[in-house]
Amino acid sequence: ILQRSDNVSSLLIKNAAAIITCNDNDDILYNADMYIKNGEIIKIGSLNNDLKADRVYDMEGKYVFPGLINTHHHLYQTFTRNLSTVQNMELFDWLNALYEIWRGLDEEAIYLSSLTGLGELIKYGCTTCFDHHYVFPNGSENFIDRQLEAADELGIRFYASRGSMSLGKSAGGLPPDDLVQNIDYILADSARLIEKYNDTSKFSMHNIALAPCSPFSVTPELLKESAKLARAYGVRLHTHVAETKDEERFCIEKLGKRPLEFMESVDWVGDDVWYAHGIHFNDDELKLLKETGTGIAHCPVSNMKLASGVCRLPEMLNMGINVGLAVDGSASNDGSNLLAEIRSAYLLHRLNSSNKAPSGYDILKTATKGSAAVLGRTDIGELSVSKAADFFVIDSNGLDMVGTFTDPANLIATTGYNKPADYVFAAGKLISEKGILTGIDEEKIVYKANRKVKELLDKRK
Ligand code: ZN
Repeated sequence: ILQRSDNVSSLLIKNAAAIITCNDNDDILYNADMYIKNGEIIKIGSLNNDLKADRVYDMEGKYVFPGLINTHHHLYQTFTRNLSTVQNMELFDWLNALYEIWRGLDEEAIYLSSLTGLGELIKYGCTTCFDHHYVFPNGSENFIDRQLEAADELGIRFYASRGSMSLGKSAGGLPPDDLVQNIDYILADSARLIEKYNDTSKFSMHNIALAPCSPFSVTPELLKESAKLARAYGVRLHTHVAETKDEERFCIEKLGKRPLEFMESVDWVGDDVWYAHGIHFNDDELKLLKETGTGIAHCPVSNMKLASGVCRLPEMLNMGINVGLAVDGSASNDGSNLLAEIRSAYLLHRLNSSNKAPSGYDILKTATKGSAAVLGRTDIGELSVSKAADFFVIDSNGLDMVGTFTDPANLIATTGYNKPADYVFAAGKLISEKGILTGIDEEKIVYKANRKVKELLDKRK
């Protein structure tokens, strides 16, 4: 097992071929260094040769990028990926089939699936992850606590959520009645988690958002009360909106409004709100997102896999709407790899919008600074003085990288980087080296996780 080096307080990154900062000026620093102390970037650029640090890394021939930030996930779904029975379905049928398995989730499944999904994210350059957990069967009291425990072991920044479902099938919703909870319990548990874990300080490793699942699985009352509670505590709000045409039909038929109109009616727009997907918006709705500062977690692979549609990303970026990138849950991706997501996003929008598509660098920036803004953070998402030392490093020396030196800012989207990053640092600590996580014994976790997947699938009625 590699050492996470928790006792190393200063770091010197030397001679990087390029540091892609993703700052407001889009600076790319060639042959550059970075000096880090206590998890914070203190100096960056061509630095004085006699700077001393606890640990020095010679990064000759390597490219350094800000750590990628995932703005939407369902980590538990890592245990129901690649399931042959649901591969041909769209969202509503897909959910109905999977609820039958997810009902069997227990604490160990949550803990191990969080280690699995977060571990994969880290290997491919991710240093902050938001997770939307909304399935709470019997025995689920400590699910979110166990997720935070897994994140701490790995060393990743974790933005957890108290998700919820309150509208069961018998009341006209999509989920089975035994997977929904009553509103008083949901709100009390939300308050407990916020008070226990939500850390608002700079460089925070733990945050909590409130995240009722979707218009077709929660009541308007729960949305309104969650918004009130979140605003009383100053935490953010997240849900799925405008993902599919089925959802749009559900909202128009049962709620008498289009999805965004409905969200507005329950006080769910604003710069403290972000939605997963945001595909089926009209022009006026895009304007409303811009005017209110409401953010979007763009999940291109999931949207392609479930045939949900294509998010209007080019227009959103042109209008200055806050957009971040996300892999979505592993049952609709089926992996947790943001480097691959960047490339997929780039290619999808090239196909769909040709010369109006965002550049590869635009997508990288969406996955870094854009994602940070969606999560309400200004201390992560770029490599600049006083920002967090969250970054990943790739090697430009391999055969697969020949020629990429002409444009390192675009290469992740255009050429693709199809292997784990060489180094991944979060809060100035080495959390992955050449695809090996420093925080856990992977072999043991893989064995336990596969055993647990089998147990979960065997439980299905
Ligand atoms: Zn989702």
